[in-house]
Amino acid sequence: MIIDIDRLPRKGLKIRKDFEFLSVDLIEENAVFLEPAHAELTLKKVGEEIGIKGKIKTRLSFTCSRCLVPFEFPIDSSFDLVCFPVEFDVVKEELDSEDINKSFYYSRKIDLNEVILEQLNLTFPIKPLCSEDCQGICPVCGKIIKNGECSCVRNDSDPRLEKLKMFIKDKR
Ligand SMILES: [Zn+2]
Ligand SMILES: [Zn+2]
Repeated sequence: MIIDIDRLPRKGLKIRKDFEFLSVDLIEENAVFLEPAHAELTLKKVGEEIGIKGKIKTRLSFTCSRCLVPFEFPIDSSFDLVCFPVEFDVVKEELDSEDINKSFYYSRKIDLNEVILEQLNLTFPIKPLCSEDCQGICPVCGKIIKNGECSCVRNDSDPRLEKLKMFIKDKR
């Protein structure tokens, strides 16, 4: 959805829309959209600055970075963004020092799909975990460690790591 800056009504513009994205557009490799991203946006033009306040709601499936099991990740976030024309770099320095969420627009247009996608990517955890205390995969039997299902005695040293250490030693 492309917004023409020069056609924004003076009193602002409210948009409610479902945005459909391809999962490949996401920074998180194994993330899959379980539903479209529902966004409620308010755009307001002040001089050459376009303020965008918005809420995004959606559900994604992530893959846990420890146990590799997919899990549902709901997103319900809000953002407050200011977009500047790209040739408008007079106040850039000043802006950098402030903690405002900013973006730039080109050719008098703002692509809302890009805005939403960027905001979604910002809400993702760096290391997705199915739960904070996910134990991951047992280094001995290779099973997912959950609810004490795995009864292996695990030492601090991983047998595969030991082998690797031996291998490295041999090479020296
Ligand atoms: Zn996990
Ligand atoms: Zn085990």
